[in-house]
Amino acid sequence: MTDAPQPSASSTDATPTTGGGHPLAQLFEVQELDRQLDSLSAREAELPAELVELRREMDDLNNRLEDTEMVLERVESQTRTLDLDLKTTREQIERTRTEQEKNAFDARAQTQFGARLQQLSERAEEMEEDLAPLRERESDLLTQAKTLREQHRGLRPRLGELEDADEQRISDLRASGADMREQRTALLGSLDPRTAKEYETIRRAKGGVGIATLTSGRCSACNVSLPVNVQQRVAAAKVPPVKCPSCGRFLLSPNA
Ligand SMILES: [Zn+2]
Repeated sequence: MTDAPQPSASSTDATPTTGGGHPLAQLFEVQELDRQLDSLSAREAELPAELVELRREMDDLNNRLEDTEMVLERVESQTRTLDLDLKTTREQIERTRTEQEKNAFDARAQTQFGARLQQLSERAEEMEEDLAPLRERESDLLTQAKTLREQHRGLRPRLGELEDADEQRISDLRASGADMREQRTALLGSLDPRTAKEYETIRRAKGGVGIATLTSGRCSACNVSLPVNVQQRVAAAKVPPVKCPSCGRFLLSPNA
C-alpha cells in the first residue's frame, strides 16, 4: 500500500554545468523533496473518516456505559440498604409475634404487642413499596449496560482492522519518507555547507519555501518584479546564490 508520492528524479531539466548538476538546481531538488516530506507529515495526521467516526462512537459507548454503571451502583446500594432494613423489620415482626404468643393471657400485653406489630407491618409494607421501583430501575440499568457492552464488543473487530490498516498506512508513509530523507541528506551534503545551512534557515522562516525561480523577471515566491541587475546576477547562477531582495529567498534562474 504505497500511494506515497515518489520523489522526482529529474533536476536535470536545468542545464547541468557540472557532472552532478548545478548546485542551485540540486537545491531546488532538495526543496522538492522537502515539500513531499512535508506533505507526507501532513498526510500522517489525516486519519480515515471511518476510523475517526468509529473511535468517536466507541468513546461515546464507553462514556454511556460508565454513566450507566455509576447510576446502577447507586441504585444497587439503595436497594441493598432498604433490603437490609426490611429484613431487620421482618425479624422484629417475628420476635414480636413470639413475645405475643408467650403472653397470650395478658390482655394488656396483647394490646401493646398488637399495636407494635401493626406499626412494624406498616413500615415493612412501605419498604416493599419503595423497593419495587428500585428493583425495576436496577433491572433496566442492567439491561442497558449489557446492551452497551454488546454494542461495544460488536464494533471492536472493525476498529481493530481499521487501527491495523492505519498503522500500516503510517509506516508506509514513513518508509517512503525515509528514502526521500536519505536522498535529501545526500544532495545537501554535496552542496556548499553554508548555502545548505542558509537554505534550511530560509525555508524554516518562509513557510517551507527556501528557493524560488526567476520567472518573467519576477520572484516566483513573492511575485515581486526584480531589478535588471538582480536578474543578471541570478542568471549568472553563482554560489552563494542571489537572494530575492523582497522576500529573502534564494533565487534560481530557469537556465541554471
Ligand atoms: Zn521573492
